[in-house]
Parts: sequence; C-alpha cells; structure tokens
Amino acid sequence: LNRFDAEAVRRDFPALDQIVNDNALVYLDNAATTQKPDAVIDAVGDYYRNDNANVHRAAHALSGRATAAFEAARSKLARFINSAGTEELIWTRGTTEAINLVAGSWGRANIAAGDKVLVTELEHHSNIVPWQLLAQEKGAQLVVLPVTDRGELDLDALETLLDERVKLVALSHASNALGTLNPVEAVIAKARSVGAKVLVDGAQGAAHWPVDVQALGCDFYAFSGHKMFGPTGIGALWGRRDLLDAMPPYQGGGEMIERVSFSGTTFNSLPYKFEAGTPNIAGAIGLGAAVDYIESLDRSAAAQHEAALLDYALQRAADCGGLTRVGAPQRAASIYSFLVDGAHPGDVGMLLDQQGVAVRTGHHCAQPLMERFAIPGTVRASFSFYNTFADVDRLFAALEKARRLLF
Ligand code: PMP
Repeated sequence: LNRFDAEAVRRDFPALDQIVNDNALVYLDNAATTQKPDAVIDAVGDYYRNDNANVHRAAHALSGRATAAFEAARSKLARFINSAGTEELIWTRGTTEAINLVAGSWGRANIAAGDKVLVTELEHHSNIVPWQLLAQEKGAQLVVLPVTDRGELDLDALETLLDERVKLVALSHASNALGTLNPVEAVIAKARSVGAKVLVDGAQGAAHWPVDVQALGCDFYAFSGHKMFGPTGIGALWGRRDLLDAMPPYQGGGEMIERVSFSGTTFNSLPYKFEAGTPNIAGAIGLGAAVDYIESLDRSAAAQHEAALLDYALQRAADCGGLTRVGAPQRAASIYSFLVDGAHPGDVGMLLDQQGVAVRTGHHCAQPLMERFAIPGTVRASFSFYNTFADVDRLFAALEKARRLLF
C-alpha cells in the first residue's frame, strides 16, 4: 500500500497550480529542474528582506546573521549526503561547475600524458567535455565505457577497459536521458582496484534517493540544488578531505586567500580555498531549506510513489501502442524516455505543451548516447513525488491527441 499523499505535497509547490495553454499544468520536466516549495521561496525572500549582507567579512549584525545562515545551510547539506565534515562541502554554481573544478584543479595536477580518464557513454555533456578539454591539454586519453541496448553500463567491458593507466573514472549516479540508475558502488570498487579515483555526477541522484558519499566510497560527488527543489545557480562539490587539501586553487580572488602580497599568496583552509568571490548566499540558504523540506517527507514512500508512477506510465504505454521506449533499464529513476513512432520528438513536445503538458524533447545534453541509439533525441517525461497518476493519464490523453493531429 502506497501512502504517499502526492495531492497534499503538491500544494506546497505554487508553480504547479497554474493554467498553461488553457489547461491545468502537468509538469513532467523534473529531470531538467524541479519546482520549488514555498519553504524554499520564503527562505530566499526572507534572507533578502531581513539579513542581506556579505558573509564572513563585516563586523555587523546583518553580516553575522547572513554568515550563520549560509554556514548552517552548508552543515545541512553536508549531513544530507553524510559528508565526514563541512570542510569537504564546497559551494559551486551546480554540477557543471563542480565537475569543472575537479577537472581544472585535481585533473591539471594529477593527469599526465598517457594517462586515461574513463567516462561512460550515457554521460551528460558536463561530465564529458571538461575531461575532453583536460585530455587534450595533457595528451591524455578519454576512454568510453559503452552501454547495452537496455541503456545500462556494460560491466563486462569495464573489466577490459580498466587498467593502471586509468587515473579517474567519471560516471553519473543516474542518467538524465534514460533514467538508468548506475551500479556506482560496483564501478567504484573496480576503479579502486586499479588505483583510479572516482567522480560521481549526482545531478540526478540527490533528489530521488538518500545519498551517502562515505558508503558509496567515491572521491568526488557533484550535484545541483535546482534539481532537488532548491534554487538555480547553487550546488556543491563534495570531495575527500585529503584530496581537496592537496589540490591547487581553482579560481583566485577574495575569500579563498589567507594572505596576499606581491611576493606571494597563501590560501585559505577548506572549504574556502575553492570559494573565490562573494558566493550565492541566498541560493545556499534556499538549498538548506530544500534539504529541510525533503527531510520532512517520508523519503522511502516518496521514492516508492515515483517508482509507481513510472510503472503506471510503462503500462499505459504498452496499452497505447505506437510508442517506443529508449533503453529499458532495470533500475531507474522515474524517467520515461520514448519516441512516438513516425514522429519527431520536437513536434510531439510542442503538441503536448499546447495541452498544458510539459516534457523535455531533444538530446538531453547526451548526444553520444543519442548516437549510440541512432536517434536524434527522445521525448522525456520525468516524474517527481508531487506528480500524480492523473498526471500520467493526462500525458497519455495528450499523446493520443497529438497522434491524431500528426497522422
Ligand atoms: N549531469 C546530469 C546527469 C544532469 O542531468 C545535469 C543537468 N541536466 C547536469 C549534469 C548539469 O547540471 P547543471 O546544469 O545543474 O550544472
């Protein structure tokens, strides 16, 4: 029995309650970004209304309050992913900047000519391009772990691709394009056995499942606030303290220094060494509120509800016919990525939008994966716990109508 009350939860999200193109909005683009609960919107508004000041610097009350709230948010997020300490949690603009930080700092210091960086075929561009740039700069090699027809990582191929020249394995917790939940623990164990470090792109992880970076055993975990009900422009890099300590700064500026003189500069301690300039204070506070919100829910019931939505969508799709799912991962986030046979995904997306149903179409920033399946893109319906079975019904009613208009 699923007791998750999605109807009650969705009332916390004001943007869900609106009319789009003469229809009640059905928001199924949660893998791109989730909507924000009132608690997050209020936390950001309250900060600007009452406490706005720069952090860590001025000796006045507002700055003290801003600093306390900013650092409290860091503590919440660190605890949320079970970081060993707050100094291992570095604020970034999001997953993309977190990965670029590792490539630009750890990568530049540790990757040499002839070394290999292993990524997977289902990565988002943000977990491909920074490694490609690094490999080009260093004369290193980018190695690609293929996926099977189901859209799952080919673990047999991993055995042959991993050798002691692989210095880093960079893989996503879950695929944003197909939903595939990757066996990260198994990959991490194998990568460690050849001495490679592991970065997990957690953009699609943190919103759906409890993340425990210590249990995972990875070296770096990158994620975005806006995909877990927090504001845009804020996210984090978690890294193992010994690695972060040894890494050179990523950007130079205020806040990241200990002492500056023209004869040389010394750098601040963790995490500030990697936080040059005035940070996204409001964003961090909003993300702290998002953590509180997520933790106020029954997370396992929420995850079960999301899984039930996907099961229901797959069943409706089978009944409906004329739809082809792309990949069929056995363990997956609540993402249904598909094609309407004979139609371009972009046309389908437009016809759904006209009926108030928001999905994402296209390559989902995973062009190599689209190439693997020899398709230009997919239609992607990605569910969150605030979606309902009625939303799934609306999707399929809209698809039926789109087909009548197209064919
Ligand atoms: N990796 C994955 C798997 C993603 O889904 C996304 C966002 N679509 C990113 C990385 C990039 O995240 P951001 O744009 O928030 O930096």
